[in-house]
Amino acid sequence: MKLNHLHSTAFITLLIVVAGCSQTDHFSGIDPYEQPLKALEEGNERFVRGTRTYPHLDAARRHDTAIHGQHPYAAVVACSDSRVPVEELMGAGIGDIFVIRVAGNVCMTDETGSVDYAVAHLHVPLVVVLGHTECGAVTAAVNHSPEHGSITRLLAHIDEPIQKVRLEHPELEGGALLNASIEANVWRSIEDLIAHSNSIRGAICEQQTRIEGAIYNLDTGEVRWLGPHPMQEELVAASSEDGFE
Ligand SMILES: [Zn+2]
Repeated sequence: MKLNHLHSTAFITLLIVVAGCSQTDHFSGIDPYEQPLKALEEGNERFVRGTRTYPHLDAARRHDTAIHGQHPYAAVVACSDSRVPVEELMGAGIGDIFVIRVAGNVCMTDETGSVDYAVAHLHVPLVVVLGHTECGAVTAAVNHSPEHGSITRLLAHIDEPIQKVRLEHPELEGGALLNASIEANVWRSIEDLIAHSNSIRGAICEQQTRIEGAIYNLDTGEVRWLGPHPMQEELVAASSEDGFE
């Protein structure tokens, strides 16, 4: 990372944050995330149908990316669950997607820093936060399973969106509560990304990056695309932090 570039980026994004998202009025290009999103959608459709094409996995691709560096077209935050093979389920190969995997697809300091890097330095036009059905981390948080050490802190982070679901939908229980909590946890991660990164907020304002939520179905292999956060504009306007306190 170049320090001068970091400083100038921080200054520019600070100006954008102060101004809210008003600069989006001047944007007149084609939305840069459309083609990357289409590539991931079509890759997942092939995965579900069992007609994967295995792109960008040969020696030529390895050599090219080793020499010329990486230029991924998306960043994906996903759960560490071994049943969620991110590149495979989205039809991506070497150098295509910048993947952050962590139990419960949470976005705390290191995960947000990784997405910040992908947005500010690799200029990915699309960020996807990918939850999944039957998530063990969310299940443990819903059930208040007794845990220890660092796992307790991880689950505590997931507990907040679950409390919100319980408050807004007290009628939910069992699988319905779990599914709603999994989706709420995806939105929470997006909220954390927006709340704790000047670069991410700036890229959203400039329409250089779009953040999408999604849920992967372990059984069918399908990704259900949720779109951007419904409160994105308000979240961007209300946030000013760059990093976690
Ligand atoms: Zn999981």
